[in-house]
Amino acid sequence: SRDSSRLSVLTEAVERQDWDYLTMHQYYCLFTVDSQSLSQNILHHPNLNGAFELMRYVLEPNERLSQEVLYLFANFPFPITRIAMNWPRIHHQQEQKFVQFMGLSVNFQSLMTACMRRKYPPLVRELYHGVGITSLIFQRIVFTAILRCVWKSSQHLEKEALTILHKNIEHFYRMNHPISLPSNLEDDDQHWSGLLCDLWRRSLSQPHPNNIPTHVSDLHALQPQTAQAAARRRGQPRIHDPAQPHRLLQIQPTQPNLQGATRSFFPDRTYVQPQQRDPNPTQFGLHQANLRSPVLKAQSAGPPLYQFVTGFAKHPARFKDAGRKIETWSLPLKNLNTIPKDIIRNVGEPATRTVNKNSNMLRLRCVKWPSSEPEPPDEHAWAIADTYWAPNTYFTFNDTLLHPRKKLYYGKDLPIDISALVKEGDNTLEIAVLREADDKRYLEYALAIEVIGFQSHDIIKQHCLTVNHIPATQTLDEIKSKLSATSLDDEISIVANNLTINLFDAFSASRICDIPARTKTCRHFDCFDLDTFLQTRPKKGDASIVDHWRCPICREDARPQHLIVDGFLEEVRRKIDEDGLFQTRAIIFNQDGSWKPRIE
Ligand SMILES: [Zn+2]
Repeated sequence: SRDSSRLSVLTEAVERQDWDYLTMHQYYCLFTVDSQSLSQNILHHPNLNGAFELMRYVLEPNERLSQEVLYLFANFPFPITRIAMNWPRIHHQQEQKFVQFMGLSVNFQSLMTACMRRKYPPLVRELYHGVGITSLIFQRIVFTAILRCVWKSSQHLEKEALTILHKNIEHFYRMNHPISLPSNLEDDDQHWSGLLCDLWRRSLSQPHPNNIPTHVSDLHALQPQTAQAAARRRGQPRIHDPAQPHRLLQIQPTQPNLQGATRSFFPDRTYVQPQQRDPNPTQFGLHQANLRSPVLKAQSAGPPLYQFVTGFAKHPARFKDAGRKIETWSLPLKNLNTIPKDIIRNVGEPATRTVNKNSNMLRLRCVKWPSSEPEPPDEHAWAIADTYWAPNTYFTFNDTLLHPRKKLYYGKDLPIDISALVKEGDNTLEIAVLREADDKRYLEYALAIEVIGFQSHDIIKQHCLTVNHIPATQTLDEIKSKLSATSLDDEISIVANNLTINLFDAFSASRICDIPARTKTCRHFDCFDLDTFLQTRPKKGDASIVDHWRCPICREDARPQHLIVDGFLEEVRRKIDEDGLFQTRAIIFNQDGSWKPRIE
């Protein structure tokens, strides 16, 4: 049966035309029976023993095969001398590939160590570029071997893990095809490792199926049968493994001997993220479907809810230690009953969250913030800054690996919702940046944890008309001081000693604002109509989307708490109504404080 398991893999290699596997297998067998027939490039390679040790480890020792079969294998598909004579070019190419594998196979031990520590098996890219394994079948064998070490008593997960591996292989080769779109390695790695981690986490939270572990039919078991698996077979109650939180990164300087071990398997730091010319989230985001945002459902029918950032659980800050070691942000949180729970109705569909106006959610967000700025962004600058994830930056929140959603798949970088991960008491965000010593790009970013709140149309409006209502006299004083200022301000249209204020709603541009509104930070006096502004916020599910709160005139931060209603323009409107001058588009304001409708 030893013979037959090796034979069936060989048969598969022939069927799938995996010539790289046939070569490796033949060289491996030749090394045992007739090593001198191998080329000098192989025999004098400094990692000769390491490379064959790796094959011996994952394929099983040749000594266990019967002599006849081993001899047959060493000459399969043809005796090596015949291959060299009949197909010299192919022979040379295959030998080159094998020598390359020999060189890179020194990385196998560190890949194994990295996988053990991070608790998930290797990705195709790591096997291909890290260890030089070009054979698809050999990739699978090494993957399975490492998997069995990493997830010791979880052989029932093997089938699912292999399904993920096969998708990873398909994607990897499609992306590396010369005519394919450039792929973002970092995103890809995070996607595939995310799937594997999810599988592992799911297995920890679910009872194991009480059946015989699934084996890959054509692979012999590399690990001795564990006592647990044996117990399971006998139908005895299984013993729970303690949940092992996985750590993505281990780069603390306190473990210098391990540092080299994990580093080579992280994304190529010289890699530049390709920019997608036509973002197409539907096409490119499909395989990241598990990262879709939950759908929000309003708890009760009624006026629409608006969603916006109301504050910070952690104020914007730059990365500090993240470039040298794992940076930790601790986050004491309490009264989390306002955070809605994720409800998953059907597998494969995004979760739903039931929200009301007291609900809160938490998001991790990163923005570009030039290192020349002495201070981190204030709340207004933060609110209008687009999300950009710093390159090669990794986050875990309460030991769960976070997946930054990137431009390549979504058209733009998106925040990470961490609502489902927070817990009462101490919460921990860990941040690590993998970089070359001279790569200081991570210093050009700022990071914060935002609190998202909900509010109804009526309450926002009420707030603007009372608490955030600016009396006419205040606006008049501001206009007068602007007009008397010596320096001209580009932001407002000053012609000589007067100032024009547009009255028409910035949206409809067809009528005067009913409720003239702008933001606390706007430098113009022109207004937009409050109701129209609120009603035009884009919706998703039963609430507005979070990040569409900018002044339609100047793009300043226009989140509901920063909207004001201008009492002076309300008076102007009343006066114009009284005079029947409904088509007045603008008024002209003089330095002496008087104003008149502009003649069109
Ligand atoms: Zn504005």
